[in-house]
Amino acid sequence: MNQLIEKAALKPYNLTHGEIVSLLSLENTAELFAAAYELKCRHVGKVVSLRGLIEFSNQCSKNCYYCGIRRGNTLVKRYHLSEDDVVRMARWSFEQGYGSVVLQSGEFESEANTTFVERVLKRIRPLCSSGHSVRPYECARYVHLFLSLPAQI
Ligand code: SF4
Repeated sequence: MNQLIEKAALKPYNLTHGEIVSLLSLENTAELFAAAYELKCRHVGKVVSLRGLIEFSNQCSKNCYYCGIRRGNTLVKRYHLSEDDVVRMARWSFEQGYGSVVLQSGEFESEANTTFVERVLKRIRPLCSSGHSVRPYECARYVHLFLSLPAQI
């Protein structure tokens, strides 16, 4: 096996910037893909996990230039789904066999939005497991949220 691919498979966090560039520049990727697949099988098996992604809002206070929903893009029509709609979508995902859902939105600092996410999580928790990709909270908030969630059925 190519020594660099072997290193990537065994110690991926030890790769240098130059080595990563070399891997990304490979013309023949068959060996790299085979090693990646072997690594994936070793860690999570031959399964594909599907998550239902619920993009509940495209409002964002940040302005990352690569992002289509950044604050400065005035061409985007903004939306924010209702609590009932998010719960309905989570229920639909569960009924279709998705193992979990992810709640995702742009980032905006608002207590109202934080409590919105918390209320939704409390309602969907009995249905399925969930993650969220919204603005980061304080650690204590995560602990409070975790402890206040109802048990999964
Ligand atoms: S949604 Fe995320 S990536 Fe896009 S502008 Fe907001 S913070 Fe940046």
